[in-house]
Amino acid sequence: MTTAHLTCPLCEATCGLEVTLDANQRVTRVQGDEQDVFSKGYICPKGASLGALHHDPDRLTAPLLKRDGEFVEVSWQEAYDEIARRLPPIIEEHGRDAVAVYAGNPGVHNIALTLYGRVLYKALGTKNFYSATSVDQLPKHYSSGTMFGDPLAIPVPDLDRTRHLLILGANPLVSNGSLMTAPDIRGRLRGIRDRGGKIVVVDPRRTRTAQFADEHHAIRPGTDALLLFALVNVLFAEDLVAPGRLAEHLNGLDDVRELAQPFTPEAVAPRTGIDAAEIRRLARELAEAENAVVYGRIGTTTQAFGTIASWLVDVLNVLTGHLDAPGGAMFPLAACQPTGNRRPFAVARWRSRVRGLPEVVGELPVATLADEIETPGEGQVRALITVSGNPCLSTPNAGRLAAALDSLDFMISVDVYLNETSRHADVILPGPSPLERPHFDLAFYQLSIRNVANWTPATLPSAVPQEWETMLRLTGIVAGQGPEADVTALDDFVAGETARRNGLDVAVAGERTGPARLVDLLLRAGPYDVTLADLEAAPHGMDFGPLQPRIPEILCTASGRIELAPEPVVADVPRLREELAKTAETGLVLIGRRHLSSNNSWMHNLAPLVRGGNRCTIQVHPADATRLGLTDGGLASVTSRAGKLQVPVEVTDEIRPGVVSIPHGWGHDVDGSRARVARANPGVNSNLVADETLLDVPSGTSVLNGIPVEVTPV
Ligand code: SF4
Repeated sequence: MTTAHLTCPLCEATCGLEVTLDANQRVTRVQGDEQDVFSKGYICPKGASLGALHHDPDRLTAPLLKRDGEFVEVSWQEAYDEIARRLPPIIEEHGRDAVAVYAGNPGVHNIALTLYGRVLYKALGTKNFYSATSVDQLPKHYSSGTMFGDPLAIPVPDLDRTRHLLILGANPLVSNGSLMTAPDIRGRLRGIRDRGGKIVVVDPRRTRTAQFADEHHAIRPGTDALLLFALVNVLFAEDLVAPGRLAEHLNGLDDVRELAQPFTPEAVAPRTGIDAAEIRRLARELAEAENAVVYGRIGTTTQAFGTIASWLVDVLNVLTGHLDAPGGAMFPLAACQPTGNRRPFAVARWRSRVRGLPEVVGELPVATLADEIETPGEGQVRALITVSGNPCLSTPNAGRLAAALDSLDFMISVDVYLNETSRHADVILPGPSPLERPHFDLAFYQLSIRNVANWTPATLPSAVPQEWETMLRLTGIVAGQGPEADVTALDDFVAGETARRNGLDVAVAGERTGPARLVDLLLRAGPYDVTLADLEAAPHGMDFGPLQPRIPEILCTASGRIELAPEPVVADVPRLREELAKTAETGLVLIGRRHLSSNNSWMHNLAPLVRGGNRCTIQVHPADATRLGLTDGGLASVTSRAGKLQVPVEVTDEIRPGVVSIPHGWGHDVDGSRARVARANPGVNSNLVADETLLDVPSGTSVLNGIPVEVTPV
């Protein structure tokens, strides 16, 4: 028996796990690491299934090459030879933009893909870069970029000190936190209560978090920006604006006052479904709390006014004096800070070819990827590289995208499964399991509610190459060095550049290679006096303490101040005013939902996580069910502009009338995938009805909450 301690890479919470292996290297037990400095023994069902993931017989352990329509296992050399034979000619003949990239969400939880994926993407030099960000949190990057000058400067709730938490469009008790790295959310929310504080949830569903909260307001989907503007309106109208020490760092306070004027509680009440008197009370309680924080997540970002809603969340935190203050919304200071890019934030540096949609943080909206593949002409996408992504399940009008993928000249998937997306590829390159690779949560320590760091060495040797080597082999091919590119030389180059940007001599990292060397360099350049050797000596992590105020040091706007009314966001306010002028909508709209045992489309091939009956149902309020003739357990047909699906009905008063909900990430009943458990528990792909033409205008983020649908009994 051996025991290993590692950081769980399966969601943002970064829990410490204790994994026990027998003499045959089989995982016999996974439990929470009680000595972990951050999670203190917490674990969820996903983390407990890490052994099932490692031993999953469907997980790929050799490259697959499609020959005559069938996948066959090949050697790594054969796989690279095929890529070198087919990819460079496309670049040579049609240019670099002819190759698109889709980077999926698991890559952000993978240090090799985080650090070396960007090397490949830079070498490729395509403007057609897409990721799961534009079906998730892109509006938050947009608002942070325009307000604070850095799209990665995202303030997080100081959960352990706050006394008033206003949550919009988030369900942290099942997501375990998002844009808020905080293991044991339940314990931390309970802590707010124990301090005499209050939790208020605004959500169209009475989610688990809403049930736990002191108050729940069932808002009409897509109207959060109206509610938030009304809260701002009340703060100004009742002289409750008190930014405190932030006042000297603000631009645009009067502009916000003026912008908020039309959005009175009475004006927004019919649209949001929340009484004007309640809105006033919410604003007063927010302003009068000893400390407080407004936190918005997926329901506020993947909707028609995602950027305005994301912006107003932080406007409220500023106006009430709760931004950058203990117990409010604070900026983490990670041990490895992003380096190199402190240029002023800019958007729309290029636009998509077909729909003219703007670039944001270096990517185009994935809602237009199918357009770029299907539409002939100069710049047409002819090849695609997916990296740990499953856009055929996770992006809007998934049926159209799946058909478009079959028209590509060439496709590569870097993926551990032959799944709904990688089945369209010509070559699949697998990576190691989480137990076979080192791990460091580069991205999520930058969103952590406490400044911590933990390094996980690989627990077991890997049967496949590490993904950083795969990324560099692909980099060599797209850079013209062919399939025999010198990976060691490329890695030395990457490390040298990292050292140079951080004012270091690369030699300080000694004999290390790959991500370990880069993390060591970034730690040495970071704000704490630590090296990778220090983290290696601390298997339960290092705690650098609670979050500290960081304004003005964190600001990198051109003015050096917080831009409270940034021009690119303000430009979208007239669209919201038009929305306000419309009469209240009565048609059905679709929203998503999340389950504790699921993370998007991940992990549906693990039996422990899918047992307990079909979770992929359409939730319908009893009044709507009666009106529509739907019965609990019956089948419903759901139709939108984009498509149609059939799904079992679950009648529940947990959902607001006029709203229906289907979880995303399902729909595993497709030909050609190799995921037996998932195919036996397929669910339905909700993105078949998500409409790729519905976007948050500034960011191009897809509307996945608030999709107009018709629902009829089958
Ligand atoms: S909450 Fe997230 S990090 Fe913690 S065990 Fe579960 S999946 Fe892993």
